[in-house]
Amino acid sequence: KADAARMGSKNRGGNRITFFEEQMNAMAARRLELETHLRRAIANNEFELYYQPVMDISDDTVYAAEALLRWHSAELGFVPPVEFIPVAEETGLIVDIGEWVVGAVQEQLQRWQQARVTDIRVSLNVSARQFHSEDSARGLLKVLAAGGTDRITVELTESALVNDAPGSDIFFNGIRELGVHVALDDFGTGFSSVGYLRDFEFDVLKIDKSFIDSICEVRDHGLVASIVAMGRILGMRVIAEGVEDEAQLLQLRQIGCDFVQGYFYARPLPLAEFEEFLQNRSQQQVAG
Ligand code: C2E
Ligand code: CA
Ligand code: CA
Repeated sequence: KADAARMGSKNRGGNRITFFEEQMNAMAARRLELETHLRRAIANNEFELYYQPVMDISDDTVYAAEALLRWHSAELGFVPPVEFIPVAEETGLIVDIGEWVVGAVQEQLQRWQQARVTDIRVSLNVSARQFHSEDSARGLLKVLAAGGTDRITVELTESALVNDAPGSDIFFNGIRELGVHVALDDFGTGFSSVGYLRDFEFDVLKIDKSFIDSICEVRDHGLVASIVAMGRILGMRVIAEGVEDEAQLLQLRQIGCDFVQGYFYARPLPLAEFEEFLQNRSQQQVAG
C-alpha cells in the first residue's frame, strides 16, 4: 500500500505527499489486467486500425488519413487507446505494438496502390518510448524502411522531443534519410516551445483540438490564426484537429487553414467504411 501511494506521488511529478486510498488497489489491479492481456494481443490478432480522413478545406477532398489503433480484447472487450496506450508505453509493449502498426499501414498502402483505390498519405502515431533506446530506434527504422516511406507521415508529440533519449538522434536522422514526413501532434499543449521548431524541421503541424473547441472566441481565434501563419512561413502544412461543427470550419476557412480533421467530416472509421467514404467523396468530385 505504501508502494501504491509512492507511485501516486511519482506519477504526479514527485516531491509531494500522497496517502494510500482503496481505489489505488483497484487501479493497480486494472493496470495489471490490461498488461496481461496486452501481452497476447498481437498474437491473438486483437488489433485493428481505424482511419480518420484529413480533409482539404478548399475542395472537400480527402488529403490524407490518420491511422488510429483499436484493441478488441477477447477477455476485456473494447479498450480505448487512452486507457491501453499508457500501459503499453510504461511496460515497453508499445515497441512491438508500434512495429505492428507500421506493418499494417504498409500493407494497407500496398493494397490500395495495387487495386488503384487511392494514393493518399497515411499518418501514424509514434510514442517516445518507441525510440528511447538505440536498439528500439534502429528496430523501428528497419520496419519503416520496408516500404511506403514516400506516403507515410509519423506523428510525434512534443513530449517525444523533450527527453533527450539515447535513441533520439538515431531515430530523427533515420526518418529524414528514409524520407518519411514528420508531424508535430497536439501543437499548443505542453510547452509549445518554438525551440523545437528551430531544432527540427517538421512537415506538418497539427493544432490541438482544445484551440479548435474555442476558436469562436476572439483570443483563440487569434492564436489559431497566428499558428497557421507561422506554419505557412516555415513551410509546414497545418492541420486543425477535432473540428466538430460548421461554425468552427467557417472560422478555419476565414483564417486560411488548409486541412481539417474531425467528427464534422468523419470519425475514425473501420477500413470498409473509410473506403466507402473515399468512394463517396470521389463520386461527389466527379458529379460536382
Ligand atoms: P491523437 O493522436 O491526438 O489522435 C486524435 C484523437 O482525437 C483520436 O482519439 C480521435 O478519435 C480523436 N478525434 C478526432 N476527431 C475528433 C473530434 O472531432 N472530436 C473529438 N472529441 N475527438 C476527435 P483516439 O483514436 O481515441 O486516440 C487517442 C490517442 O491515442 C491518440 O491521440 C494517440 O495519442 C494515441 N494513439 C492512437 N493510436 C495510436 C498508435 O497506433 N500508436 C501510438 N503510439 N499512439 C496511438
Ligand atoms: Ca495523432
Ligand atoms: Ca492530436
